[in-house]
Amino acid sequence: MLIDNTSSFVADIKAGKITKVVITTHHKPDGDAMGSTLGLYHFLRAFISDVVVCVPNDYSENLFWLPANDTVVNFEKTPEVVSALVNEADVIFCLDFNRLSRINNLGKLVDESKSIKIMIDHHLEPDTFSKYTYWNSESSSTCELIYQWIENYFGKQYISPKVATCLYTGLMTDTGNFQHNNTKPSTLRLAADMMESGADHLQIHANIYDVFSLNRTRLFGYCLFKKIEVLAEFRTALIYLDRHEVKQFDLQTGDTEGLVNFGLGLKNIVLSVLIIDRTERVKLSFRSKGDFATNAFSARFFEGGGHKNASGGQSSLSLEETVAKFKSGLALYKKELLLV
Ligand code: 5GP
Ligand code: MN
Repeated sequence: MLIDNTSSFVADIKAGKITKVVITTHHKPDGDAMGSTLGLYHFLRAFISDVVVCVPNDYSENLFWLPANDTVVNFEKTPEVVSALVNEADVIFCLDFNRLSRINNLGKLVDESKSIKIMIDHHLEPDTFSKYTYWNSESSSTCELIYQWIENYFGKQYISPKVATCLYTGLMTDTGNFQHNNTKPSTLRLAADMMESGADHLQIHANIYDVFSLNRTRLFGYCLFKKIEVLAEFRTALIYLDRHEVKQFDLQTGDTEGLVNFGLGLKNIVLSVLIIDRTERVKLSFRSKGDFATNAFSARFFEGGGHKNASGGQSSLSLEETVAKFKSGLALYKKELLLV
């Protein structure tokens, strides 16, 4: 169900009352995060000249081609610049996340800033830090929400080729190429609308998926050949990587994207997990089929969250301890896993 209290805010934009805007998104932004922030950036520039996208930290190189990517400011690289922008903004748009803890140290700055906050998001259980909210957990992606918000309040004529290109990117990546169960008839109609508005789907697909490094390809081969473990009694597939392996393949941000999906391709598997020792923390990615709620599982054991069938979490234990904790957690969910 859509929650929307943005109509007076839209009126303020149209009346020219908003002059300085920051758009931000979650930690390690993905295709939906960068597509939605840059899509909104291109749209807002029709009304407001001072708009800037600020990200909490770096993201995958296969998103660098997005139009206006060169204007994005990275908080980790230039904290003073972002701090000044956040403090001086009239409005901060928070896209593709709904808790300030998801943007690390930038969250504190955003929280303390006197700027008006607006959240546009599709994750479950939103916090209440924003004055304005446009939220729907049934939406495939934040890009879908941005499209609808623009179309409903401003009109389709504002979906320029640049806006459409950015938004199509997030629609495509957050649905796993229109494969996941967040793909509805309306999602495909929206993709068609975006193509008609100038999104070149072949080029976007090639920009995102045909640019892998040899290291990344070899990492996938190594994981599938040597590392994937099937826990048949829990209908679960598991891959975990230690620090040495992370170093051996010179893993860059985004290199492991998609790896967790391979486990779900196995017959009878309903839960797939990827656990990586990122040195500062151990990160976990969960994907499931059917009714198994990975977000509840990762919230219970790994300070995590996300969507029912795709979520993430973290652990400050060692890799071995994290794997052991995961396996003992699984034992408590055996019934649910066998029901799917
Ligand atoms: P991924 O496995 O691709 O990193 O994340 C999948 C989904 O889970 C994304 O929608 C992301 O927003 C969410 N997610 C990933 N890590 C975390 C986390 O540590 N906390 C929460 N709340 N959500 C996460
Ligand atoms: Mn998203």
